[in-house]
Amino acid sequence: MKAPEQAKAEVARRRTFAIISHPDAGKTTLTEKLLLFGGAIQMAGAIRARKASRHAVSDWMKMEQERGISVTTSVMSFEFPIPGRPEDAPDFERLANVNLLDTPGHADFGEDTYRVLTAVDSALMVIDGAKGVESRTEKLIEICRMRDTPVITFVNKFDRECKNPLELLDEIEDKLGIPCVPWTWPVGMGKGFKGVYHLVERELHVFKPSDEGTIAAGIPVEGIDDPKLDELLGEEAVEELREAVELLEGAGVEYDREEFLAGKQTPLLFGSAMNNFGVRELLRAFVSLAPAPQERQAVVGKAAVEAPKPGDPVETRMVDADEAAFSGFVFKIQANMDPKHRDRMAFLRICSGRFSRGMKAHHVRLGRDVAMGNALAFLARSRELVEEAWPGDIIGIPNHGTIKIGDTFSEGKKLRFTGIPSFAPELFRRVILKTPLKAKQLAKGLRQLSEEGAIQVFKPLLGATWVVGAVGQLQLEVMKHRLEDEYSVVAIYEPVEYSMARWITPDLEHHDKVTLDKVMANFKRKCEENLYVDGHDDLVYLAPNKWNLSKTAERFPELKFEATREHS
Ligand code: GDP
Repeated sequence: MKAPEQAKAEVARRRTFAIISHPDAGKTTLTEKLLLFGGAIQMAGAIRARKASRHAVSDWMKMEQERGISVTTSVMSFEFPIPGRPEDAPDFERLANVNLLDTPGHADFGEDTYRVLTAVDSALMVIDGAKGVESRTEKLIEICRMRDTPVITFVNKFDRECKNPLELLDEIEDKLGIPCVPWTWPVGMGKGFKGVYHLVERELHVFKPSDEGTIAAGIPVEGIDDPKLDELLGEEAVEELREAVELLEGAGVEYDREEFLAGKQTPLLFGSAMNNFGVRELLRAFVSLAPAPQERQAVVGKAAVEAPKPGDPVETRMVDADEAAFSGFVFKIQANMDPKHRDRMAFLRICSGRFSRGMKAHHVRLGRDVAMGNALAFLARSRELVEEAWPGDIIGIPNHGTIKIGDTFSEGKKLRFTGIPSFAPELFRRVILKTPLKAKQLAKGLRQLSEEGAIQVFKPLLGATWVVGAVGQLQLEVMKHRLEDEYSVVAIYEPVEYSMARWITPDLEHHDKVTLDKVMANFKRKCEENLYVDGHDDLVYLAPNKWNLSKTAERFPELKFEATREHS
């Protein structure tokens, strides 16, 4: 096969996704089952081990360092047959190459989770059938919406008493604004759970509780009126199923690929991850429906290399996954290797071209070529040196702090991928040093941790006391631990009055520069106490509450108050 054709086929079979859910909905359980199907059995154990170790931050970090668990479980790759492809077709046509990106789930929820979602092409939403749509899921869907990420939904725990499935559909549509297209439909629930009817493949899957997951094939039926269903399910259950299906056919939403790809409708399946029930159907639907890597927007020309000044034109273009030249961006940095050597792993998502070992790529921000001989791939069983990788794949680049979140690597033309943002933190602490002599160390530590994306730092325009911000509690704990451990800085982290952060930029589209300069000067004078600069020297307004924020924004309509800030 010729090179461009091979590239096309490799791109077409990639499925890069993350699971989003509220804690306890069953993400860990489902991940394990998906990996078992993908043949990545050792990895499944590591997932549980990682979750089990969640008590103390220091233990958790130590264990991650020792075993490299968090790196290996950050990306899990496996193959799975695409339904409908001939058995004798070559692997690159027959098998999907699935990359599952882990999003930290529980207390360790932080910006990392958000940023991982910028590196996927689709998301799998897991909902606890008894609890319905919960708060964390709502937040994560908001992030998916920023890039119109397509979402497939799995309603879990139908072996328990759950909400009525029709109500669940309504709830998802009401709370998340995404209409559902049922792919399978449950028959009963809890003790009376009989199975799921596959609406698309017209098969009945009979439920048998099992932890090991002996998978019985679906029983084909001639549609919903097939008398076989009466036999298998009994009169009452079949009646209920037929009513529901009739209702869905009459009033339900029809699958529309465009709508799904735009994140405007979600195919929905039911099951029980713990019983390994409905998981194979989920995986089959997923590899059929989820998109291969799509094109991505990048800044090109001068603005790709130097951050443009306000008002400068910024040229952009879409980079197609099939383009021959290699390109990718860094969405996550993990400092988990040997702390003495300050080793860091940068996770790069490939957007176009072919990665091969030994190649050089241009590090656009630094303006120099970097050899990528030691890049790692995350294959089913272990971390290993990567020989070849394609769009949608994630590679790990060990480095000593030269790589930052948001950095682009490209071959040939200079470009910079956009849309890898910082998210407004929600937890704030003022950092008070116990030994004032360590001020320099503190500044260094905070700067480095902020470059890694481990924390956000804010320096006041007025005064000298740093404020740190995080999206989740564990982010703060990890920072504290690392400042002590790696920088010997012991500090007190005082609660502050702030609860929201907004990045401030002048609205150049609607106002002229002279006006804006005046407004900005006035704003800085009036709001000095709430103004800070972040690790990129960008201006940030920290607000004590929503009311204060909206009042301030009203007073300065010429300024934009933004909840995300793109890395440049
Ligand atoms: P996570 O926090 O989303 O990763 O959730 P886990 O996978 O750890 O699951 C949370 C709890 O729900 C655990 O006690 C699981 O055993 C349980 N669980 C997961 N899937 C199912 C299921 O299908 N049925 C039932 N009854 N319990 C489940």
